[in-house]
Amino acid sequence: MAVKTILSYPGASHILTAQSEAIQMNDPQIKEIIQDIKDTLYATPNGVGLAAPQIGYLKRIFVLNKDYIVKDLEENSLLLKSAGQMLVFINPKIIAEKGEVFEEEGCLSVPGEFINIKRAKQVRVRAYSEQGMQFYEKFKGLASRAIQQEIDHLNGLLILNHKKA
Ligand SMILES: [Zn+2]
Repeated sequence: MAVKTILSYPGASHILTAQSEAIQMNDPQIKEIIQDIKDTLYATPNGVGLAAPQIGYLKRIFVLNKDYIVKDLEENSLLLKSAGQMLVFINPKIIAEKGEVFEEEGCLSVPGEFINIKRAKQVRVRAYSEQGMQFYEKFKGLASRAIQQEIDHLNGLLILNHKKA
């Protein structure tokens, strides 16, 4: 339970470019990983989202700070009603995408780089909550973009991988 150092490219590229493993919901380490991601994200100004590999855990979890993306959730969103500022996504998967949007994007693990990246405008995601409940939700705007970047992290991809040659 601690604020961790956010790993950055190129120093920690061996971790940041690795594939993260699916979580077993009975994994005794889950609680600690989630708390560390939350604590670190909370302590990071302008931190919209943070994925487990960014603090050294190669596990398929990421967290979004609800404060930045509340307007990008659906009206009847269960996440909107959930208590707490931090939204936890375990074993997340994008199951549908809609539209395209081209925008400048930065990443806490690639300091100083801002890259124009084409992303899906909206995504529908399936994931497990911190309580182990499966949920399906649609996201737009910054939430959609952040989720796509966080899932890239779980697959060992950075914003640099989207850079046009
Ligand atoms: Zn990132």
